[in-house]
Amino acid sequence: MSKKTLFQKIIDREIPSEIIYEDDICIAINDINPQAPIHILLIPKKPIPKLSDCTDKDKDILGHLFLIIKKITYDLKINESFRVNINNGEDAGQEVFHLHIHILAGRKFSWPPG
Ligand code: 5GP
Repeated sequence: MSKKTLFQKIIDREIPSEIIYEDDICIAINDINPQAPIHILLIPKKPIPKLSDCTDKDKDILGHLFLIIKKITYDLKINESFRVNINNGEDAGQEVFHLHIHILAGRKFSWPPG
């Protein structure tokens, strides 16, 4: 059996985290090392390593995640301006190989990202 990812351990409550949203398909937690006043990680419960591993079977999960971004940003009153980021692979800065979406808000962001 493959080893559990850090985020799987968070989902399974083996590692504590600040959970801000959860349903059957995903969980949203505060990032432990925030890069903005609001920095949330939205994580599907299915342990997909990275976005490029998704298949047609994951269509509903991916659609759900984006609608949950809308809900979370609306609930936190940051829906006017926020940034969504997915790091896919080591060169793109991915450290945890369990798909997750960064939601950042509360400051001005520059472009392009570093
Ligand atoms: P990645 O670089 O893989 O896109 O993002 C991983 C994120 O997970 C980083 O922003 C990092 O700060 C966050 N992180 C790493 N360990 C923990 C942890 O134990 N708890 C929480 N809440 N976030 C973590």
